[in-house]
Amino acid sequence: MIERVEQPALEVEGLTVTYGREPALWNADLRLGQGALAAVVGPNGAGKSTLLKAALGVVPRVSGRVRVLGVDPARKRRLVAYVPQRSSVDWDFPTSVLDVVTMGTYGRLGWFRRPGRSERAAAMQALEQMEMADLAGRQIAELSGGQQQRVFLARALVQDAEVYFMDEPFAGVDAVTEQSIASLMGRLAQHGKTILSVHHDLATVPRYFEHAVLLNRAVQAVGTVKEVFHRSNLDRLYGGRVPADVPELASV
Ligand code: ADP
Ligand code: MG
Repeated sequence: MIERVEQPALEVEGLTVTYGREPALWNADLRLGQGALAAVVGPNGAGKSTLLKAALGVVPRVSGRVRVLGVDPARKRRLVAYVPQRSSVDWDFPTSVLDVVTMGTYGRLGWFRRPGRSERAAAMQALEQMEMADLAGRQIAELSGGQQQRVFLARALVQDAEVYFMDEPFAGVDAVTEQSIASLMGRLAQHGKTILSVHHDLATVPRYFEHAVLLNRAVQAVGTVKEVFHRSNLDRLYGGRVPADVPELASV
């Protein structure tokens, strides 16, 4: 059983993706342990969303291998929950909040069973955790940005995954929602879940995350925030144009 304990929760090896001629993601290697809370940072177009999508298998990869607790996640979809970038979703789709969250149970149901009472109860519980239970009957199109994000997080929660991919979950949400997303991430990590989250705001990386993946088509560094989130690494990552003032970095 020792082997099992030492197995990384998420292992990405040599992941390469090409949409056109140039690779959007080049030979990405990444290992995260259970309970890791990791930010993916890098400039616009660096391949951050592509890294998540390719690891999930929703965009084709040229090469590479992904394992979640030693298993190919394409063979066991439930292992990875995905919160897509909010702006990439068609919110006009006529669906209720409860339906969106109940969809999160499909992975554990398998092909032939339809969600029933226990799945809807699990979805309601996840909505309660995100303080969205009273809006269960609403259409998703009618929600504010922060509420939509909470619904997506509830859908990820109900999946009861081992690894959570989140693409800019803090984008366009108010301060209260930002806090509840941050504490949800902390709780998941405490329960041994692994989180890989694209994060735009460099100033809050040290506050919300313990690990960082610095990405600009290739992975430039992976490690704890303490180890890799330094001015010199960020200057290299952003070509000398670090976009935000990062007070924590001033002395490093
Ligand atoms: P990031 O999330 O870091 O901003 P993306 O992973 O979205 O970057 O995109 C990386 C690069 O790949 C960008 O140059 C983007 O324009 C390109 N790209 C992303 N998705 C597609 C797609 N479906 N087809 C063609 N090019 C794409
Ligand atoms: Mg992106």
